[in-house]
Amino acid sequence: MPKKRVASAEHAEPSVKLSTRGVARLQARHPWVYRSDVVEAKDVLPGATVRVLDSRGKFLGTALYSSSSQIAIRMISHGSVPDLPALVGERIRAAIAYRKELVRNTDAYRIVFSEADFLPGLIVDRYNDVLTLQILTQALDAAPVREAILQTLREELQPAGIVERVDARIRELEQLPLLSSRLLWGEKSSTVINMNAIRFHYDSLEGQKTGAFLDQRENYAAAAEYAHGEALDAFCYQGGFALHLAAKCASVTGVDSSRPALEMAAKNALLNGRDLEWIEANAFDLLREYAAAGRRYDTLVLDPPAFAKSKRDLEKALGGYKELNLRALKMLRPEGILITCSCSFHVGASDFLGMVADAAQDAHKSLRIIESRGAARDHLILLNVPETSYIKCLILSVSN
Ligand code: SAH
Repeated sequence: MPKKRVASAEHAEPSVKLSTRGVARLQARHPWVYRSDVVEAKDVLPGATVRVLDSRGKFLGTALYSSSSQIAIRMISHGSVPDLPALVGERIRAAIAYRKELVRNTDAYRIVFSEADFLPGLIVDRYNDVLTLQILTQALDAAPVREAILQTLREELQPAGIVERVDARIRELEQLPLLSSRLLWGEKSSTVINMNAIRFHYDSLEGQKTGAFLDQRENYAAAAEYAHGEALDAFCYQGGFALHLAAKCASVTGVDSSRPALEMAAKNALLNGRDLEWIEANAFDLLREYAAAGRRYDTLVLDPPAFAKSKRDLEKALGGYKELNLRALKMLRPEGILITCSCSFHVGASDFLGMVADAAQDAHKSLRIIESRGAARDHLILLNVPETSYIKCLILSVSN
């Protein structure tokens, strides 16, 4: 009987062909290729692992395919990937090893940051003994991959609970069945975390974003180095900056428009034996009112939500940032400290700096940059992937 020909695993994988522009993006080491640059994707199933070819059929590497997102291709390797769950496990272990080496003074940090850890579509955060994960692509949603993610996290970190945080909008975009945020493993979904020797309550099934702003962790500690006198934290959320400043300042006031955030901030203050003032208000109005009333501060923090959700919002967003920064500058006493942040990806570092310089000019103040910072080091930035860099944090000394 003639021997049956069995396709090797490698060649059983479907393939996609890219346009010259798509190939150029990969050569620049950006892992995303848009659908408009995929010239051929025959019989490729949603979430498939695909061989990526140029228009002449030359092999460029392996990608995760999405049948619905505009980002059709996310590269996962420049070689072949015979076993995706095994590769995902290996990459998670590498990401954990990196954090063990470099993350200090905390039990709360990002363990896996998607593209920046070569795991496009996976975000894992550690909050002491509770881990949260977000799965943002079809390929990583497959059962064997999910199992590999959970098993690796359990083996490496022995958590008391693993919670999946679901972004309904993204599941819809990826045409994945809707799920709700829930405990995937273990029993614990809330805990107490420690950042720079300050403790915070954390509940993975409540709160904005992933419930705490881990990306600002190192900026809290940096801000506290220069903070003094009377301090105001204008968008304080659960008190991240405010509680760090409390160790150095005579008084600290935290302002936020969200009552649940302030209730948690007050609990956090109690946990650390601190007495702070919390005010529920629109920060724009409050700063205007306080400035008009002649209130003065020595340290001021501005960490508003992202004002620019898309490139089109840039001008308006810069207007909003400038208004806040101008008011803050006017309220600072001589040799005051301004800690000013933006988490809008669409506001670039130079746009942000230009905006602060304009505000300084209008306020007739001289500003010196003490530190120009970004996200904490566990939120790695992949060069050539601007999407992985979004936080700007300037620490400024303000003189008349
Ligand atoms: N600095 C915080 C994070 C701030 S996130 C930390 O490090 O944890 C932005 C915060 O701004 C959110 O808590 C949100 O409730 C609040 N916010 C949004 N619009 C506001 C407004 N107009 N006035 C006051 N707070 C506002």
